[in-house]
Amino acid sequence: MIILIKGYTMGKDGFKKHIYRYKRYYFYILATIVSLALPWIRVNGNHFFLLNFDHMKVHLFFVKFDMQELYLMPFLLIMLFLGIFFMTTLGGRVWCGWTCPQTIFRVIYRDLIKTKLLHIRKSIQNKQSPDKPGTTGKKIIAILIWSVLAVIAGADFMWYFVPPEDFFKYLQDPAGHMVMLGFVFGIAAFLIYDITRLKEDFCIYVCPYARVQSVMYDEETIQAVYDESRGGIIYEHDPQSGVALDNKLVKNKKELLALEPNAECTYCEACVRVCPTHIDIRKGTQLECINCLECADACTKVMGALGKPSLIEWNSISAVKEHRRPKFLRFRTVAYGVALTIALVALFLMSTTKEYMLLNINRTAELYTIENHGKTVQNAYVMLFQNTQNKKHEYYFEILKQDKTPFKEIYIQRPKKPFPLNAGKKVKKIVVLATDKLLAKNSTKDVTIPIIIKAYAVDDPKKIVVYRKTIFAFPRYDYLQKERNK
Ligand code: SF4
Ligand code: SF4
Repeated sequence: MIILIKGYTMGKDGFKKHIYRYKRYYFYILATIVSLALPWIRVNGNHFFLLNFDHMKVHLFFVKFDMQELYLMPFLLIMLFLGIFFMTTLGGRVWCGWTCPQTIFRVIYRDLIKTKLLHIRKSIQNKQSPDKPGTTGKKIIAILIWSVLAVIAGADFMWYFVPPEDFFKYLQDPAGHMVMLGFVFGIAAFLIYDITRLKEDFCIYVCPYARVQSVMYDEETIQAVYDESRGGIIYEHDPQSGVALDNKLVKNKKELLALEPNAECTYCEACVRVCPTHIDIRKGTQLECINCLECADACTKVMGALGKPSLIEWNSISAVKEHRRPKFLRFRTVAYGVALTIALVALFLMSTTKEYMLLNINRTAELYTIENHGKTVQNAYVMLFQNTQNKKHEYYFEILKQDKTPFKEIYIQRPKKPFPLNAGKKVKKIVVLATDKLLAKNSTKDVTIPIIIKAYAVDDPKKIVVYRKTIFAFPRYDYLQKERNK
């Protein structure tokens, strides 16, 4: 970030190296490549991020979770919100200017397709000017090109819910997958309307992040800031709050110099013309500013011709006023950073306790049965085993005491041997545990003995193993004696 903030500094070898736009373009390319490539990358058959409602699976950091294992979701949501708070407090709307798909798509459509490719617009330096007259045909071509890209973007979005390996298989049977296709074309239709008609109004009026971000700002938040002390005061300020009002104090360079003879702003308004949200940054922080820094680049060019640094910096308001570097380490950023680290560690610890199979145990309505003339006590359970892995395994289980040592007095009467379970499948098993020993001698009530079921895959018992607590019910002693004496 420090390197980027230095962007306003003039270099001996020209401006290009110090203009944010090129750095932003690299970010856009990187973000596009990452978002397109990520769904295709698999490790052990698992994706980096996949919310697959089709197979009821969640893939996170190349680990597959069953939907029933969504205990990690609260940590992810906490991290998401803390990450947004941390990023916004530190860098303002850095997401909007540098990575948001809306900004990237607008640059592709407005600057690349309409301006550079089809010459419908005069210059990327003037985002306020209307399209050139007599370009209706070209405008249709621009919308068609964007429509193709919008469908690709819609498909790419879908790949985080339906992975590419399934997506292209489903495409061969479009009639059977109308919902998926509906989503892809629905997203594409929205993107066509959004990027060609709604434009930056989406950032200003629709995007919820735009509405809430301002409350996370403080005096040290990095943003596009016009240096009034050098450039001169252009807008009237509220005498009490000091906030700039809509009325201009001066309307041209002459009026500005009359009030402030040392003011450096040339009043060229290159910063206003280039602004995609049509605001004048010389008025101060505004909700509409998406932090794209086009204005800073424009002023770098204008002031650079005069051998001076830009009047618009990517810096904090306080740092510009005091002509210093911004303070990154402050209470709010450190607090968010610490909270984020704690959530990350908690997520990591939780994910290391991930279970590679699922087991639910329910007891049957009958507490116990007594067989063999009172010599054998049986307990029945319904156990639901689920293979959450990508390959077939054989499963079985053991009975343990609370200290996890084998409970030798209780044995498995049913099922007698391990059973196979295909990848992703679940099976209900009636399990009967039995004992021939006198586990308790209580003549006033039945006794419940805590036990642990250790279930595992026979071929990988170290990794694929789960422990579940349950009870073994043993009848009262006098009742048992009565059965034995029958
Ligand atoms: S580009 Fe710079 S010099 Fe020109 S109007 Fe904006 S702030 Fe003033
Ligand atoms: S004022 Fe306009 S050009 Fe400058 S950073 Fe904000 S949105 Fe971009």
